[in-house]
Amino acid sequence: MEIRYEKTTAPKQKPDEKALGFGKYFTDHMFVMDYTEGEGWHDAAIVPYGPIELDPATLVLHYAQETFEGLKAYRAENGEIKLFRPEMNARRMINSNRRLCMAEVPEEMFVEAVRKLVDFERDWVPSAPNTSLYIRPFEFATECAVGVHASRKYKFVIILSPVGAYYATGLAPVKIYVEDEFVRAVKGGTGFAKCGGNYAASIAAQTKAAKLGYSQVLWLDGVHRKYVEEVGTMNVMFKIDGEIYTAPIDGSVLPGITRDSSIRVLKEWGYKVNETNLAIDDLMAAAREGRLEEAFGTGTAAVISPVGELYFKGETAVINGGNIGSLTQKLYDTLTGIQWGRLPDNYGWTQTV
Ligand code: PMP
Repeated sequence: MEIRYEKTTAPKQKPDEKALGFGKYFTDHMFVMDYTEGEGWHDAAIVPYGPIELDPATLVLHYAQETFEGLKAYRAENGEIKLFRPEMNARRMINSNRRLCMAEVPEEMFVEAVRKLVDFERDWVPSAPNTSLYIRPFEFATECAVGVHASRKYKFVIILSPVGAYYATGLAPVKIYVEDEFVRAVKGGTGFAKCGGNYAASIAAQTKAAKLGYSQVLWLDGVHRKYVEEVGTMNVMFKIDGEIYTAPIDGSVLPGITRDSSIRVLKEWGYKVNETNLAIDDLMAAAREGRLEEAFGTGTAAVISPVGELYFKGETAVINGGNIGSLTQKLYDTLTGIQWGRLPDNYGWTQTV
């Protein structure tokens, strides 16, 4: 892929690494590339970070043909920069684009674009403990027309944001509200795709949960409103009677890369991992009976996020006394150890930029 480089003439001052928060600061440059039907992808460039001008009739503004990804670059102690399974994000974006009838960015092109941009912005990868460079690739329809149809033009963009811990509370257990009014996805819909529309539709429940003092929503399946699916931006796993339970990937749940990595590691440690439908009533009963030993979310942003409390229809289940469980902690230490290069990567998951 030929990339044009245009260097900024006004580099920004880098933020304080101890107060990054999440998704507040952006680096000096971004990757952009356009797609035109009949011509394919063209005009790849790394240019100064800045606004993208859109005609008011641009299709994405009306019919939401938009997909995105999220991954991170990590600074190892020896100064090296590591990416974690970027090819998985490339493949998931291809599946998302296919579902939304959008142009697919080939896997090698996606990974090369990420690597080239991170390399160009390498001074922006922070090195303070628990910080990383969040990478946000996204694509949207750019044809100008009113009338629902698959766009014949797209733009693919990558922006970068130096980040700290996703939750202000760090690895402290989060409180989760089990949503029984709104649903996120049904099979046949777009639940497995990472498209902006899914998140737009989730904000009502997220806002409701936040007002009640919960940091995330746990979604139930959209048909029976019975089976546990996933959390707002994480897949979710439960340890019950020594076994792990998590929702299957069968159309309505996002196939998380942290989920996949966690399952590999947990199985290697000898745990039975049940990718199966778990009814919320059975989960609450397990909590009541003291059989729900641990619960945690898995996702790029927080990696592993312990769940300390679940609220469902007037009942609160406190998990492991509201403390982080030992398996949750071990999984967090292992995955983040591989990501930051503190532990050997026996899975071949990381690549150096
Ligand atoms: N579910 C949803 C709805 C998400 O937005 C995310 C974050 N991408 C995840 C699960 C976790 O996926 P991953 O581990 O690939 O970040």
